[in-house]
Amino acid sequence: MPGLVLVVDDFPPNAKLLAVKLSNEYYDVIMAEDGFQALEKAQKEHPDIILLDVMMPRMDGFEVCRRLKANPETQSIPVVMVTALTETADRVRGLEAGADDFLSKPINDLPLFARVRSLIRLKMMMDQWRVRSQNPEQVSNAMLMAEVTTKARILVADELPGDLEKMKKFLEKDEHVLTFAGDPEEVLDILAREDFDATIISLTLPGDAGLRLCSRIRSREQTRQMPILLVADEGDLETPAKGLELGATDYILRPLDEHETLARVRTQVRRKRFQERLRTSLESSVNMAYNDPLTGVYNRRYFDMHLERMRSIQATTRKSFSLIMFDIDHFKLVNDTYGHGVGDEVLKEISSRVMRNVRNFDLLARIGGEEFMIILPDTPLETATAIAGRLRRIVADRKFRVSHDVKEITVTSSFGVTDACLAEAADILLKRVDSALYKAKDEGRDRVVVTPCAG
Ligand code: GH3
Ligand code: MG
Ligand code: MG
Repeated sequence: MPGLVLVVDDFPPNAKLLAVKLSNEYYDVIMAEDGFQALEKAQKEHPDIILLDVMMPRMDGFEVCRRLKANPETQSIPVVMVTALTETADRVRGLEAGADDFLSKPINDLPLFARVRSLIRLKMMMDQWRVRSQNPEQVSNAMLMAEVTTKARILVADELPGDLEKMKKFLEKDEHVLTFAGDPEEVLDILAREDFDATIISLTLPGDAGLRLCSRIRSREQTRQMPILLVADEGDLETPAKGLELGATDYILRPLDEHETLARVRTQVRRKRFQERLRTSLESSVNMAYNDPLTGVYNRRYFDMHLERMRSIQATTRKSFSLIMFDIDHFKLVNDTYGHGVGDEVLKEISSRVMRNVRNFDLLARIGGEEFMIILPDTPLETATAIAGRLRRIVADRKFRVSHDVKEITVTSSFGVTDACLAEAADILLKRVDSALYKAKDEGRDRVVVTPCAG
């Protein structure tokens, strides 16, 4: 998922150092040496994130940030302030200027990659929602920032008495409702029963219980989107790094600082609530005309419209996207053997399995009887191929329970995958993914065939 990062620093060796670190993680990097250049490049190059030095002559980082956030063309780009000052006052000033996060110099890799990754993911999601929304101004940074961040339900998995006391004292200020649990099984139990806005997990739970908890929370459907904030020991960079890889959203280091704890929890709660609200409003605004009544996913009409928008975004940002097309194997036989009603059940079940196993900015549409299409924004072909492979397995490996004498039946499906070439006609793109799918049928079904963009 890496993206384009704009690094702004008046001292070129600083910028270079960051650029090298980021390139090693496959990000593309561009640089600016002062605020004016930064504003210009932000507008022209559409970076996915900006790392902004605070102390710069002529125009400081706070002012640059303010201008970025005041310009409709750049306001959705996340800004991370890079500061030599660890003073809380500066963080507050940065927040007031609209910054999305902070890094202190000297910059460690872990916080750098953690924050960059999570902000780029957030931006992707916002971009996609904006594309799909009937009134895109709803999906603005200003709306995100306006989200209520108090009175959240937070589950705290920690057993250090000192932490617990601090947590209680700090989080009380935002009137959060806290639930405490020390034992991982208990945490999972509670999460299965109740809904939370965020979970805070201590990495000092016995063994690697904290890490394991992280991945178990992520692998459960119900809690896949829930923010997880890790608490790690000062100086321990390895464990939180692993945690972030396993799907944690952010981390804080001991000794817990009041402002930082509150700010990080607020950020998580804000993003979660905003995303939830967008999803609900989007779902209710997608009217019948764009909805497939049987499966609840988008229909052909919406798919065509959305594909056009993706193509025009690609033309301006040069961002590529991939397409997956799939078709149920021998579906006629299902209908003939068990009846049309059972066929319908299979269509519904496939849609919901796939829906649960793609990212929430991917778009699933039923474009024909038992033919589906997925648009994967900002996704290279290799990733799309891996996703198609996973989807093939979640259809084939688990039996379908259908009401026909409560039978369990096996269903397979075939997949075609391609990526969009820059400026190609839509019908050529569609033809390419379609022939990949038919090749998969030809070669024996229940498989994935990839045809890359040749251009
Ligand atoms: P292949 O592996 O080559 O894709 O074979 P197939 O049998 O899946 O393909 P074919 O195109 O021969 O048949 C598709 C079937 O899908 C025929 C049609 O009755 C059925 N179908 C299409 N729409 C619906 C629907 O909404 N509900 C049900 N139950 N069946 C549907
Ligand atoms: Mg400087
Ligand atoms: Mg079929």
